[in-house]
Amino acid sequence: MLDKHQGARLANLWDDGKAAGMTEPEKLLYRSNLLGSDKRITNYGGGNTSAKVMEKDPLTGEIVEVLWVKGSGGDVGTIKMDGFSTLYMDKLRALKGIYRGVEFEDEMVGYLPHCTFNLNPRAASIDTPLHAYVPKPHVDHMHPDAIIAIAASKNSRELTSKIFGDEIGWLPWKRPGYELGLWLEKFCQENPDARGVVLESHGLFTWGDTAKEAYETTIEIINRAIAWFETENTGPAFGGRSKPVLAAADRAAIAKKLMPVIRGLISAGESKVGHFDDSQAVLDFVTSTSLEPLAALGTSCPDHFLRTKIRPLVVDFDPAQPDVGNTLAGLPEAIATYRADYAAYDERCKRADSPAMRDPNAVVYLVPGVGMITFAKDKATARISAEFYVNAINVMRGASGVSTYVGLPEQEAFDIEYWLLEEAKLQRMPKPKSLAGRIALVTGGAGGIGKATANRLMQEGACVVLADIDETALEAAQTELSTRYGKDFVRSVNMNVTSEAAVESGFGDALLAFGGLDILVSNAGLATSAAVEDTTLALWNKNMDILATGYFLVSREAFRIFRNQKAGGNVVFVASKNGLAASPGASAYCTAKAAEIHLARCLALEGASAQIRVNVVNPDAVLRGSKIWTGEWKEQRAAAYKMDVDELEAHYRERSMLKLSVFPEDIAEAIYFLASDMSAKSTGNIVNVDAGNAQSFTR
Ligand SMILES: [Zn+2]
Repeated sequence: MLDKHQGARLANLWDDGKAAGMTEPEKLLYRSNLLGSDKRITNYGGGNTSAKVMEKDPLTGEIVEVLWVKGSGGDVGTIKMDGFSTLYMDKLRALKGIYRGVEFEDEMVGYLPHCTFNLNPRAASIDTPLHAYVPKPHVDHMHPDAIIAIAASKNSRELTSKIFGDEIGWLPWKRPGYELGLWLEKFCQENPDARGVVLESHGLFTWGDTAKEAYETTIEIINRAIAWFETENTGPAFGGRSKPVLAAADRAAIAKKLMPVIRGLISAGESKVGHFDDSQAVLDFVTSTSLEPLAALGTSCPDHFLRTKIRPLVVDFDPAQPDVGNTLAGLPEAIATYRADYAAYDERCKRADSPAMRDPNAVVYLVPGVGMITFAKDKATARISAEFYVNAINVMRGASGVSTYVGLPEQEAFDIEYWLLEEAKLQRMPKPKSLAGRIALVTGGAGGIGKATANRLMQEGACVVLADIDETALEAAQTELSTRYGKDFVRSVNMNVTSEAAVESGFGDALLAFGGLDILVSNAGLATSAAVEDTTLALWNKNMDILATGYFLVSREAFRIFRNQKAGGNVVFVASKNGLAASPGASAYCTAKAAEIHLARCLALEGASAQIRVNVVNPDAVLRGSKIWTGEWKEQRAAAYKMDVDELEAHYRERSMLKLSVFPEDIAEAIYFLASDMSAKSTGNIVNVDAGNAQSFTR
């Protein structure tokens, strides 16, 4: 990113007109959102802002000084008013009286809730004392790539003074906490004219007497760093290129092959979702001479490595002589080595009260000439981890271009990664949903049953790829589901299930989007009705193409992925009562459905040894939301039963044993059951969801 914008300065976006009518807390919110809107100013979720505001105490009616500061969690770019904590400044100052020294600084976090103003439920963050003790009304703390590049240089103190003179000070590395707050206060007292301070290996503090002044100082200081790098860092990035960049299509093809295999090797503890990034900043790094040595040094800013782990895994792949087969064969050992190194790091650095070692797998996988793959417990985390590593790449590019880049000392990194306060935060996280980290592909995903199924799986935390041939419906379904669950959870692919090439390419897109596959819901369908003597060969073939061949093609592709991924798999076919029970005037449809059901049985048999389960749901007469039931099939059925189309739903309800209508959500529930671990010991089964129909009882 630095690369793309290197010439561009940050714009001053402050609008006096907009700010004119705002209260101080509103101006703080305005400033925060402006700062967070540009990733060059701070990374996602990183940094925080504050204002000290005079307010009326709700209890005494007196005017008191209140610290408004970004609370725990959230992101300054998207924070709303309720994202700020509010605390009494006099109580925060009083905390100094009970501070027992740096070795007890963590206990100060427990006192912060006692300082809460106005019963604000937003928890105060660990950075609160940093803002409280800077004796200025408005304080910004940002993680700008250009400043961290200075902060992570070997001679960062010297560089800071060279670039900023006395305006910006420098403090050595110190883990954020109570003690660092006192350091900042001391710095301000000793340097009353300073406008800010660079924190070694970390980021930037700036301040001002007004919200506008604080904002403009932050922008100005970062711009000065950007300009300085522009004139000083003129050599080739990362010491020059030593490997070729593959063409975009080849990069994607390699990533599609690597991602499911990596995923299978690292998903034993929890299912992981992947993200692929081959942006220019990444490509510059993964083709450079410095890739291995710089990657080994690890990331610097604590925010970065909490998300990316201390260092990435550089995949053994030579873009000059691409042989992905060799790379794939070497992955198990490479990943085992990474895990062993991580365990050794834990062993070297752990303290008596350290939490148990967490998942020892890498988050970031760098593939020379191809790009970066990240894996995490969900898509958003994988995507954000990639963004953070791009921040780290920008930092390494700047620092190594003007000085020597230094990572954080290992013990400091460990102490942050395994901080008891961080562990407490993890322990408070809600239990993951039943399909968290699972990836599903649903064919016919834009139709009634398909969309209801996607919705049900996403409710349980799954990522879903909607596959359909109806582009308009597909777009609408994706918009609807991403509005409900977030855009990270859903993708769509145009897929004609009868085309071998379309199926292969659609599954490839799914792999690139999420890194693997756990669940295939084969649901694309049609229905036709004609007496056998009137059934044309074309009509017969159409049924067989979609319902038999189409199910074969998508299953074959899913099986190939499952076998490469080596983490089991799950296939659910949406068949029909008519696959078991004969129905008048629909021989092509019924026969194709019977073929589909028997295919499921064969696949259940073949997949079992690889923990691949295959089951069938048999719906009957699901009219609502169905595309099958909007066409001539509805009229044909009504004609066959000699009734009006509006009478069909009631007809089917009355025909059922339970006298109930069957809805898409009912089918989705059965599919969810079969796709989840609740049915972990079932394969080769058929679940009828038809409100009862004696003809289709399985036997
Ligand atoms: Zn920070």
